Amino acid sequence: MKVYKFGGASVRNADGVRNLHKIIGEEQHLFIIVSAMGKTTNALERVFAGVQQGDRAAAQEAVDGLRQYHAEIIDDLWHGPTHLASVDGFFSELERIVAETDYRPEDAELWYDTIVAFGELISTTIISEYLRFAGTPNQWLDMRQCMRTEQRHKDAAVDMEASAPLLRQAMAGADETIFIGQGFIGGAPDGSTTTLGREGSDYSAAVVANLLDAESMSVWKDVDGVLNADPKIFPDAVQIAELNYLDTIELAYSGAQIIHPKTIKPLQNKHIPLYVRPFGDKRKPGTVIRGMSAPVQVPILILKKDQVLLTIRSRDFSFVLEEKFSAIFSLLERFRLKANLIHNSAVNLSLCVDETWHIDEAVEALRTAGFDVMKTDRMELLTIRGYTTELWERYARGPQVFIRQSTQSTVRIVRKRG
Ligand code: ASP
Ligand code: MG
Repeated sequence: MKVYKFGGASVRNADGVRNLHKIIGEEQHLFIIVSAMGKTTNALERVFAGVQQGDRAAAQEAVDGLRQYHAEIIDDLWHGPTHLASVDGFFSELERIVAETDYRPEDAELWYDTIVAFGELISTTIISEYLRFAGTPNQWLDMRQCMRTEQRHKDAAVDMEASAPLLRQAMAGADETIFIGQGFIGGAPDGSTTTLGREGSDYSAAVVANLLDAESMSVWKDVDGVLNADPKIFPDAVQIAELNYLDTIELAYSGAQIIHPKTIKPLQNKHIPLYVRPFGDKRKPGTVIRGMSAPVQVPILILKKDQVLLTIRSRDFSFVLEEKFSAIFSLLERFRLKANLIHNSAVNLSLCVDETWHIDEAVEALRTAGFDVMKTDRMELLTIRGYTTELWERYARGPQVFIRQSTQSTVRIVRKRG
């Protein structure tokens, strides 16, 4: 069995779906994990925000936009106005949630997961039906039933042991050897829908690869492979042919949009190679990620955008802030904030975190717990692995640099957005 993963960008329109079909070609024994189409998850976050803020009209408007967007893809794929009952069903369910939810703040994350999961449910349904229509029989799976996660919303980890038999049962007895399942979503022990964190479909695919002892996993992307930098930001970017697991985790953690950082562990445990391959051309080699690859030789630049710098100080000016680290970090954990960079002095702890809607609540809670907190918006985090003097001169200096942390090979820079 091979696992193929298609991200939202690669199935953002009908051409993308037709291309997916072309990539499958005559292959059998595939498990295909698909994300929500295009920017659907962002739109669903707006649906949730409407529900959260009691603005049902705004939520409904976002749903209307999504209906329209998916309807156009369906019409294009089936060459004329077409209704898929299963897709209509999902939209009705979503509309019912928008119209009828009795929202309580303590259920925010439950509703978030329940709502955003529709993106993947709808994309996989369209793709499964289209493949069948185009002559490729396949079995659609509801990953809420086979991907058992911990009882935690928005960023749930998969319970591998519990999921293994569920996934096998769901696949057993199928005549087809091509399976289509949603990335990003799962089900908690209490039966509610969970999600694995934004961009979590890679992780879903890696978990499936692990559970099925797949021979390989391929992520089909709109790039030729993994580059040493984002070419939109750093014009001299070059492609990397091979990466090892360790470098990949470091890169992903620093914000390289190769794959979700959680993806590697399930693959590494079973020595499954990961291919990052160009969606547009199946013959191109892409990049292969596996255990035995040598460390990368070129400098790697990774820019993590939309960061906020929190500077935390103990209000009584105590010089033993270390003693309070565990209190601070468990508070951040409660608000799902992850520190992308940590910097401490005698009295200050500075944290660079992703800009999310939890930050203000976390700042409030920190203040209540007796800390002074300063929040600096509009920051970004630049990591350069294997920096050269030239790169240092170009990026690690200047008034926009707030924090600079360096080792012999790596420098990390928190800077004001340009
Ligand atoms: N659709 C989800 C997201 O956009 C998951 C993914 O794309 O991997 O975050
Ligand atoms: Mg996506």
